[in-house]
Amino acid sequence: MRNSQTEYDLRSQRDLKQIWQSVLGQLELKHSASIINTWFNNTKLEQIDQETAIITCRSPYTKDILQKRYQQTISDYLIKLTQKDLKIKFKIEEQPTKPAKGPLFDQIPSHNSHPSNNISSTTPFPQHNLITRYSFNNFVVGNCNRVAHAAALAVTQQPGNAYNPLFIYGGSGMGKTHLLHAIGNHLVESKLVEKIAYFPVETFLNDFVNAIRFNKTVPFRKKYRENDCLLVDDIQFLGGDKVSTQEEFFHTFNKLYSQTKQIVICSDRPPSEIKQLTTRLVTRFAGGLMVEITPPDFETRLAIIQTKASDLGLELNTETAEFIAQCAGSSIREIEGLILKIRSELLVQDLSPTLGTIKNLLNQNHAPEQVKKRLTPEHIFQLVNEQFGTTMSQLCGRGRKAEIVVPRQIAMYLLRNDLGLNLELIGELIGGRDHTTIMHGSEKISRLLQKKTRPVTEAVRTIRHQLY
Ligand code: ADP
Ligand code: MG
Repeated sequence: MRNSQTEYDLRSQRDLKQIWQSVLGQLELKHSASIINTWFNNTKLEQIDQETAIITCRSPYTKDILQKRYQQTISDYLIKLTQKDLKIKFKIEEQPTKPAKGPLFDQIPSHNSHPSNNISSTTPFPQHNLITRYSFNNFVVGNCNRVAHAAALAVTQQPGNAYNPLFIYGGSGMGKTHLLHAIGNHLVESKLVEKIAYFPVETFLNDFVNAIRFNKTVPFRKKYRENDCLLVDDIQFLGGDKVSTQEEFFHTFNKLYSQTKQIVICSDRPPSEIKQLTTRLVTRFAGGLMVEITPPDFETRLAIIQTKASDLGLELNTETAEFIAQCAGSSIREIEGLILKIRSELLVQDLSPTLGTIKNLLNQNHAPEQVKKRLTPEHIFQLVNEQFGTTMSQLCGRGRKAEIVVPRQIAMYLLRNDLGLNLELIGELIGGRDHTTIMHGSEKISRLLQKKTRPVTEAVRTIRHQLY
């Protein structure tokens, strides 16, 4: 752990890179991944001298946007991290005249490089529309995302042939966008396919509307249909009363699919639950492999906390990491936010990351919102009872009817999995049961969830939605 800001060597490229990663991390808490992707993907903290920080980007337009919209926030974070009263300067990075190898993507003509509504539908995807720091290497694998991770990896081995389409769904902040970019980055490296396009489906929607408006459907189709791999994010936004956009997407999908081009789609819910999505799209989306990412269990939260903290140069002992894991909610985005906040508080107050200091930090008034007071056994019992219409005395009692046993076992599962409580304690909480009963009960639910047994899966999902 760096105890004070002066320990950053501002002449070292490695430290500058780390500072910039922290700034981007902070920005990501405020803005969506697509914004960060659009404006910050090729930015770099090039240099810091006594009073100036120089940030480079690739185009005058990006420079303009960064200055207008993000200068103040960037400046605040940088000052906080370096404890220097820095002014910010944006600079356009000098680019090598020619790309080192043949272009993997269409080059954008320079006069077209300003994204503006009426021309974006004619502009091919820029070469760098993948977030390079989202890779398989820094994706922590746990029970919640093991299948999705394996499927994503398989897709990179045999694009178009392993699972097509691959449909990944799960709640916000669970790592879907990270996996999409990891697939793209891996494919870029392996050169198995050439043209890879990542886009949130809203981009498709906007482009389509503009294409119609400005009579540019031919370049629009070229942009979306002439790709070897489509990575489509947040497809749930295609739902609703958007008949012609859905139809256009359907044809785009079919064109690529029929040529065995890989399609990977992410969504916050399964296709069947996307409102007003035409049946033929639901069928197409469900026709490949569908995998769910569930909220991370206690062990995975712990691993993520340790990994993210150590990436930031913050070494936490197990006790402290466990405490944070108990406080953190299930969104990995929030967990990252919590770690970043802890780290900047420690830096500013010049403290070491002991259990005591972190407990204090998290209990202060300005404690991060992410500290979920709601993640308690009482709250789990309450939600289970609301879901099933049971009572606490039924959960703790000896009744053997399925209407009581299933909710009781779900409570066992959630207390163990999401709260990380030990078996003995859960036994005490649920009517003084033996730890083997708790183990048996929670494992039974775990198996049912793996097999996607309907009422149980839905109940657990509903309870978790309310819990987090
Ligand atoms: P989603 O698209 O599901 O809302 P993101 O992919 O944007 O979530 O993830 C939110 C943040 O959490 C990102 O910074 C991402 O890198 C991080 N993250 C999510 N899952 C993992 C994981 N398994 N390992 C490491 N980081 C993760
Ligand atoms: Mg996302």
